Amino acid sequence: MQIIKNISELRAIIKNWRKDGLSVGLVPTMGYLHEGHKSLIDRAVKENDRVVVSDFVNPTQFGPNEDFESYPRDINADAALCESAGADIIFNPEAEEMYDDALTTVNMTDITEGLCGKTRPTHFSGVCTVVSKLFNIVTPDRAYFGQKDAQQLCVIRKMVKDLNFDIEIIGCPIVREGDGLAKSSRNTYLNPEERKAALCLSRALQLGKSKISDGEENADKIVKIISEEIQKEPLAKIDYVEAVNYNNLKPLSKIEKPLLCAIAVYIGKTRLIDNFIIE
Ligand code: AMP
Repeated sequence: MQIIKNISELRAIIKNWRKDGLSVGLVPTMGYLHEGHKSLIDRAVKENDRVVVSDFVNPTQFGPNEDFESYPRDINADAALCESAGADIIFNPEAEEMYDDALTTVNMTDITEGLCGKTRPTHFSGVCTVVSKLFNIVTPDRAYFGQKDAQQLCVIRKMVKDLNFDIEIIGCPIVREGDGLAKSSRNTYLNPEERKAALCLSRALQLGKSKISDGEENADKIVKIISEEIQKEPLAKIDYVEAVNYNNLKPLSKIEKPLLCAIAVYIGKTRLIDNFIIE
C-alpha cells in the first residue's frame, strides 16, 4: 500500500490501473480511521480491483468557529488500518495541493439547507466541492459513504445525478460501539463523563424507533419522544431532532417511508450526529 500526497502521481497510477482494465473504488474520509471507516473500505475491497482511501481533513467544510485545527489526525495509524483492510492507496494531500488558488466551488440548494445545514451553512458546499474534486482525480467506478452522515449521503447522490458523474454511490450502515454510540472520530473529544452522556443519542433514537414499531404514526410525537429522552441528560444540548422524507429531506407530519429520523446533539462542546432510516 502506498501513501500518495500528490494529485499527478495518483493520476498516473490510476491511468495504469485503467490500462489494465481494473475497476476502482473510492472511500473518502477525513482520517483518524475507525471501524466505521473500515466497514466502507472492506466493502470497497470486496467490490473493486483497486481501492483508494482519501484521508484529508478538508478545511472548506468547517465553519469559522468549528474544530478544523483540533480535528484528530494520525496518518500512521490510518495507513496501518488501510493496509490491513487491503486498500491500495491512501491519498493524503496537503490543503495547498487540493486548493492552490481555486476560485470554483460546488453549491447545492434546498436539501443542504435543513438539518445540519442550519447550524453549518457552508458545510455542504465544502463537502460537494471536495468530493467533486476527488471524483475527478480518482475517477472511481464506485464511491462509498456511511449512513452515519445521512444528509451527506443524500446530498452526494443528488450531486452525482445533477452533475452526471458516472459513479455508483454505495451507502453503508452505521457501525456502533458495543453500547450503541455511533463510532466517530469526534468521540475522542469526549471525557469519560461525556462518553456516558453521549449514549442518550442512540438510546433516544432506539426509543423513537420502537414507538414507530408499536404503531405511532404522528411524526411530531416521535420527535417529541426523542427530544424528551435526550433532555433527560444534563450534559446534552439539542441542535436538532427531525423526522424527514429521506429523498427530499422535507419534514414529515405522518411517519411514512422512506423515513430519516436524524439528530444532532452537543455533549459538552462536542457536536454528535446519529440517525435511523426506515426504507
Ligand atoms: P469522516 O472521516 O467522518 O468524514 O467519515 C468518512 C466516511 O465514513 C463518511 O462517509 C462517513 O459517513 C463514514 N462513517 C463515519 N463514521 C461511520 C460509522 N460509525 N459507520 C459507518 N460509516 C461511518
